[in-house]
Formats: sequence, C-alpha cells, structure tokens
Amino acid sequence: MDASTVKSGCDFTTFAKACATIESYTMQTNSVIILEKTTKNSDNSYRQALFVCKKQGKYRERNDEYTTKRTGCPFAIGINYRKRAKKYVITKLCLEHNHNVCLSATKFSTVSRKLDNDDLGLIEKLYNNELRTKDIFSVLNSVSSKYIHKPDVYNTVSHQRKQKLQGLNEIELLLKTCVIMIVL
Ligand SMILES: [Zn+2]
Repeated sequence: MDASTVKSGCDFTTFAKACATIESYTMQTNSVIILEKTTKNSDNSYRQALFVCKKQGKYRERNDEYTTKRTGCPFAIGINYRKRAKKYVITKLCLEHNHNVCLSATKFSTVSRKLDNDDLGLIEKLYNNELRTKDIFSVLNSVSSKYIHKPDVYNTVSHQRKQKLQGLNEIELLLKTCVIMIVL
C-alpha cells in the first residue's frame, strides 16, 4: 500500500473498506490509531468517523503505571459519507506525529509482533492480580509500543491458567499421597 491511498479526497465505496485502508496505512507507518468518534445516519450506517493516534489528547500524569503517555499528537484521519456519491471520503488528514514512531517496517510481521519476555512477565503479573483477559490485553496494548496481537494474549493467559491448574493438581496429589502414607 502506498501513501497515496490515504489522501484528502480519497474515496471508498464502503465504511469497511475505508477502515481497512486506513488501518493498513497506519500499521505500515507503525502508528497506533483508535477510532475516536463516529456519527451515524438514520439508517445506522456511519456518517462520520475520526481516527486519531493513541497519543492524542492531553498528557496527564497519573499514578497508574499503565496509563498511556499521551502527547497531544495531532495525527488524525477523518472520513465523511457523501450521500449523493454514496461514498466515504477522506475529509480530514493530518499524518504528522509529534512523537517518535518506530520505523522498523518489520514491526508488524508475525515474528516481531510476538510477545517478548517483558510482555509475558507483565501478563503473568496481571493474571496473578486477577485481571480479566480483556483487561490484560488492553493494559498490554497501552504500555507496549508494538502491535499486540489479541489472540497471543489470550493464548498466553490460557496457558498460564492451565499451568496454575496443573500446579494445583500436583499439590493435591502430593497431599493425597501424604495422607495415604500417614494412613498406612
Ligand atoms: Zn501520534
């Protein structure tokens, strides 16, 4: 995909196509975007949508160590539905970030998006703190600068769970063996 597909005035026949194009563009530039706001038509189709950088908004210092550091990034892509043309058109475009984005093009390849030891450690910590999987995912997503693949997180958590259960079973087994030994 080249950047010319994301230009002011570019149009898309469906909302999904617009989203897919914007997503793959931002993924290639290593930006993490969120769908900031949408408005809908009376038939529930999208009329407007605004995509912004995850670091948009005011920087707020919070004690929560997992809060995303916001930098007030101006990056934004807005699309509007043009009724007459029956198309979604890019009407707002700012592709500048006011912070560093990692420019390694391989960042989203399957290999490099893999969770590293830090991620795994954090997942374990959060899991032990009894966070729900979906919350673990969002924490990870907000602290990590790389693209976090949701299924990876879910798999890791279920692996953790299994290991925990296995550990418990072993203890139970050990206890039972002890009891039997005492009885004998
Ligand atoms: Zn940004």
